[in-house]
Amino acid sequence: MKNIAIIGSTGSIGTQTLDVVRANSDVAVIALAAGNNVDLLEKQVREFKPAYACIGSEDKAKELRERLADIPVKVLYGMEGLLEIAVIPKVEVLVTAIMGMIGIRPTIAAIEAGKDIALANKETLVTAGHIIMPLAKKKKVQILPVDSEHSAIFQCLQGGKKEQVNKLLLTASGGPFRGRKREELADIQVEDALKHPNWAMGRKITIDSSTLVNKGLEVMEAKWLFDVKLDQIEVVVHPQSVIHSMVEYEDGAVIAQLGTPDMKLPIQYALYYPDRKFLAGERLDFAKLSSMTFEKPDIETFRGLKLALEAAKMGGSMPTVYNAANELAVAKFLNRRIKYLQIAEIIEACMKEHKIKENPSVDEILEVEKSVYEMIESRW
Ligand code: NDP
Repeated sequence: MKNIAIIGSTGSIGTQTLDVVRANSDVAVIALAAGNNVDLLEKQVREFKPAYACIGSEDKAKELRERLADIPVKVLYGMEGLLEIAVIPKVEVLVTAIMGMIGIRPTIAAIEAGKDIALANKETLVTAGHIIMPLAKKKKVQILPVDSEHSAIFQCLQGGKKEQVNKLLLTASGGPFRGRKREELADIQVEDALKHPNWAMGRKITIDSSTLVNKGLEVMEAKWLFDVKLDQIEVVVHPQSVIHSMVEYEDGAVIAQLGTPDMKLPIQYALYYPDRKFLAGERLDFAKLSSMTFEKPDIETFRGLKLALEAAKMGGSMPTVYNAANELAVAKFLNRRIKYLQIAEIIEACMKEHKIKENPSVDEILEVEKSVYEMIESRW
């Protein structure tokens, strides 16, 4: 039996993790955490019977406790609750399916306590990779990628030696606006940007996929996860999303991982690594696959990717600025307070104003996040 805890259980990755648990009898859920969704968390607790449940605020915790009075579950709330969940002795793997930099502290606490991490929360590595990865090495815990591209690379790396890797090829669908020029994106509406051509995901990450910011975050995530240099990571636009990413070795061999777009595969692989298990669902049908195409990303139109590469190169606290600015800009776009192209403009403006801090501590990362939010709120 493998004991897991999930922070962010009510979201897209969280609910799909629970689908994987539902299909397997050898995984037990010890703790679940969500932000606001009391209804769904209550249902999840009734179904999976975790010993702990955590929700974002004290008020909601009170409500949840009342609703679950007939169930033996300890109800927690806020950051303290997340930190308590991260170190439950019985838990072997913490699934970080939470959205945003709020995932940093619980991830660090879990690593300190010797838990393996099934990592979906990319913001953690983007902003604090310099803290997380050395700590994981020191504590001998595994950081198992859940992001489909990183899982693909992780799977491709099983076929060779790390020191013989030449480069990582991160595939990108190109999003719903691939092929358009900048001026054609001026009037993009929320509904247009929420239509991802291949994957069904949470709202924020779907917008990030359309701007290619998601790919930028993935480049930064890959750099930390796989300990490669930035110039060893190449983004390849592959609109069909059949190849989930590839690794080129020094002899020129390219190993790719292919599949249907189903997040349950990388989630399950992270939970069972190094084993593979049956996973129900569609299989690739090569007779029906008419073509696979590839192109270079247009980083002049999709400036989100260009800015990410710049932020990654500058390093230190700049990836935090990039991530925080994007997070708030996307929230404002989703609330129809700014226009689509302003997302990249806001990121760029915040990056320009920032004085880089090398090797920021967690407190400094969170301070940078706060100051970026304040700057955006005062101007947009
Ligand atoms: P969602 O927005 O669908 O879900 C986010 C989850 O985090 C929800 O359960 C939400 O709870 C919870 N949450 C938010 N704030 C808090 C808080 N303060 N305390 C506790 N829980 C909180 O996001 P996704 O599932 O799409 O993404 C999650 C992470 O995984 C992100 O980092 C994303 O980049 C990454 N990722 C996602 C992929 C996908 O296919 N969706 C693919 C690869 C990576 P509630 O809903 O109750 O408020």
